[in-house]
Amino acid sequence: MIYRKGVKRPDYVYPAEEWRLVEKRFYPRLLAQAETYFATANGYLGMRGSFAEGRPAFDSGTYINGFYESWPIIYGEEAYGYAKTGQTIVNVPDTNIMRLHVDDEPLFLPTADLASFERALDMRNGTLDRELVWETAAGKRVAVRSKRIVSFQHRHLAAILYEVTVLNAEAPILISSQILNRQDEAGDNNDDDPRRTRGFQHRVLELETSKVEDARIMVGYRTHRSHMTLAVGIDHVIETECEHTHESSFDGDLGKVVFSADAEPGVPIRIVKYMSYHTSRGAPAAELSDRAERTLDRAIRHGFDDLAEGQREFVDEFWKASDVKVEGQTAVQQAIRFNLYQILQASARVEGTGIPAKGLTGSGYEGHFFWDTEIYVLPFLTYTAPRIARNLLKFRHGYLDKARERARQVNQKGALFPWRTINGDEASAYYAAGTAQYHINADIVYALKKYVDVTGDRVFLKEYGAEILVETARLWVDLGFYSDSRGGKFAISGVTGPDEYNAVVDNNTFTNLMARENLRYAAETLENLHAEDPAAWEAIVDRTQLEESEIGKWKHAAEHMYLPYDETLGIHLQDDDFLDKKPWDFENTPADKYPLLLHHHPLVIYRHKVIKQADVVMAMFLLGHEFSAEQKKRNFDYYDPLTTGDSSLSASIQAIVAAEVGYLDLARKYAAYGAMMDLNDVAGNVRDGAHIASMGGTWMAVVYGLGGLRDWNGELRFSPKRPQQAGGISFPLRVRGRKLEVDITREAATYTLAEGDDLTVWHEGEEISLTRDNPTSTHPLAGNNND
Ligand code: BGC
Repeated sequence: MIYRKGVKRPDYVYPAEEWRLVEKRFYPRLLAQAETYFATANGYLGMRGSFAEGRPAFDSGTYINGFYESWPIIYGEEAYGYAKTGQTIVNVPDTNIMRLHVDDEPLFLPTADLASFERALDMRNGTLDRELVWETAAGKRVAVRSKRIVSFQHRHLAAILYEVTVLNAEAPILISSQILNRQDEAGDNNDDDPRRTRGFQHRVLELETSKVEDARIMVGYRTHRSHMTLAVGIDHVIETECEHTHESSFDGDLGKVVFSADAEPGVPIRIVKYMSYHTSRGAPAAELSDRAERTLDRAIRHGFDDLAEGQREFVDEFWKASDVKVEGQTAVQQAIRFNLYQILQASARVEGTGIPAKGLTGSGYEGHFFWDTEIYVLPFLTYTAPRIARNLLKFRHGYLDKARERARQVNQKGALFPWRTINGDEASAYYAAGTAQYHINADIVYALKKYVDVTGDRVFLKEYGAEILVETARLWVDLGFYSDSRGGKFAISGVTGPDEYNAVVDNNTFTNLMARENLRYAAETLENLHAEDPAAWEAIVDRTQLEESEIGKWKHAAEHMYLPYDETLGIHLQDDDFLDKKPWDFENTPADKYPLLLHHHPLVIYRHKVIKQADVVMAMFLLGHEFSAEQKKRNFDYYDPLTTGDSSLSASIQAIVAAEVGYLDLARKYAAYGAMMDLNDVAGNVRDGAHIASMGGTWMAVVYGLGGLRDWNGELRFSPKRPQQAGGISFPLRVRGRKLEVDITREAATYTLAEGDDLTVWHEGEEISLTRDNPTSTHPLAGNNND
């Protein structure tokens, strides 16, 4: 792993607190990063943490999950089957702006005299809070207090409480509350960084409807090419003893409700702004506008306090189900909570879409869904919020027809899920690191199996999962072949594994192992349906024209799956040719030349023995039971030094496997590095959004790394490692309706059945029965747990 230093958040600005991420002063050096840190989102709607004043800003983004514009991908040289249509998440109208003028002077943070300033993401209340006191040149002291909420309870609703008090004088106050369509400004990405989002060459949002009524402004748009519709509305409630008036206007891109008040000393002027967003693929903008009005009406009826209370309750439930408690280390506790809270913000109200790689905290990776959702976020959700996990798997099922179509386009049978997408169509313009990652099929199936095993939701397996299994299994048997040169084994050529630095390779061990599992699970599930549930079997045959004989073919391919292995080194080969690659000159590659992808032509990278992210090591985590302990150690020793960690998806997996093979110090280092990926801006691109997969990885590094959990077939087997923290670490897991609490100190692990029926778990191979009468069981840590 090439450790990057990242950016330091100085303690005097960002002191560690357990439940809040706090910024104690206006600190423009981290302006861009802070917009990501202080983003508020609910999985449907997300707003970057830009200032209410609208300026200064790096990128004031407001995003709606799945709301995208499409554009034709133009290749210099076309080829058959290339992805044709790009999809990019749209920066929708910004409703956060509240411009304040006192004595006709604007509040502008870079030049204002600030007697105090504090901004905080409150992870217990679910709010973004800011409090400041501004001393104007004329000597007026102005207290400004605000709270921003993107509601978890009400998917389409956000609100801002904005309160201004002139503390020591009378003053004319003006507050301009705005709704600004600035999407055409999003077009400054001219660098070579493929992780950033491109700008549009055309105007994306076309105005369909608008209405100004008192302090309410409603606007409806349609996207130019993807023909999606959007309605945005704002409305206001002002409460103050001070004299005030307001005026509203809208000019096509900018709507304003301007409040003027005669502030009296010490008398607060409190404005609550409600914002509603509705989107659709089919409904006319006018209809969405009606829906947004209803959302606003309801919000006003209930009021801000009610909204804030509901938010708190929602977040309470979240922490009850998912908090990872770290005793005695505030900064670690804060980092872990920040990671988990960002997952909540990325997933809570995801309904009918996936989770973008950056959540809704930025436009990086164009708002696309990758395997990040299934492999990095779904384990957390499966164990803490199974309903959301189910929604996400159901969403994949909803794209099965498109996946069938894509398989045809690339000359295969069955279904091929897109490597990256918003609308179900493949959107990767670089096939070698995109479409070639066929493993996405098996990743989805892996997540499905874990979901079914851990929740026991066999109804989902029958109604949705089985169809995915049939079509993905068909793809694999069609993609591979029985190779004479490999002793008649089933080989899969021309694919890319998770490691994008070795592209279009033959027999990527990760892919072959995951494909084998996909085939096995498909065969087992369909055989069971056939034997036990004739109606379900008939339904699946009807939907897929499945023939019983196909199942035999899946089993045969799985049984004969080829896995490249080098007897001399005693390692699994990442792919057939991995050993023939030229060694990378790590010694003479300075830290600033990473990530390699920004400094070397892909071909240079491809011909070297250098790895972007865990690949064989990833397989050893996901399918650990397929490797012996000795193999794991040898593989890890071989691959880990070659792994740059140029993807944020790597560190957590390296941590988990390092812990398993006995490198506890290294494991802790990787885990800490992964946990601080965003807060330390390790990859240097937090400005573009949070690394949601890495955040899921942080949870996995705790539960699978430190807790040593392995859960194949839904059996929970723990092999806990000694935590560094004197007070230990604890976390809850929901398993088939029960709630298990795991508490690991430096001496022992305690398993507690907190809710539900009896549960069997394993500690270092020993079976433990937790029952209602005997809910708790404590076990010393294994002896090989040296620091
Ligand atoms: C990684 C992929 C990941 C994508 C989105 C890439 O850099 O190599 O594995 O899916 O980022 O997070």
